[in-house]
Amino acid sequence: MEYLEIPMSKRKKIALVAHDHKKTELVEWAKRHRDALATHQLLATGTTGALIEKETRLPVEKLRSGPLGGDLEIGAAISGGDIDVLVFFWDPLAAQPHDPDVRALLRIAVVWNIPVVSNMASADFLFSSPYMQGEYKRQVPDYEERKRKEWPLRGGL
Ligand code: PGA
Repeated sequence: MEYLEIPMSKRKKIALVAHDHKKTELVEWAKRHRDALATHQLLATGTTGALIEKETRLPVEKLRSGPLGGDLEIGAAISGGDIDVLVFFWDPLAAQPHDPDVRALLRIAVVWNIPVVSNMASADFLFSSPYMQGEYKRQVPDYEERKRKEWPLRGGL
């Protein structure tokens, strides 16, 4: 498999999402990492973004609320190459009406090999990585090459 290298700069675009029972946790985490977060660009689903903005006084670009399409907006931005990191505190104990969107978001983050963290410990580990304040080359499978080899019908399009 061939890989393409996508450069990630020091200032990263970080997407933040938390389900309702996880919002307090994400806000507490964001307050602890406020100084580091201030060096990056933040965007979030609607309610999560409003809460983080209020509690940290950091600017957050707010998309639609998750159940109204916000998760899918973030997924589209990831596949467009516009997001470097996903911090997504999803709730393992409550069913979500937009579960298909949640799964789509988690899936597309793996497709494009962006760092994804889903709980406070992994978010702490991520933010202690030198890559967060430095540059990094993200490797992404060369899907065009794969299309040509494995999916001739699509490769010809
Ligand atoms: P919200 O969306 O930030 O608007 O609550 C998050 C979600 O439930 O996916």
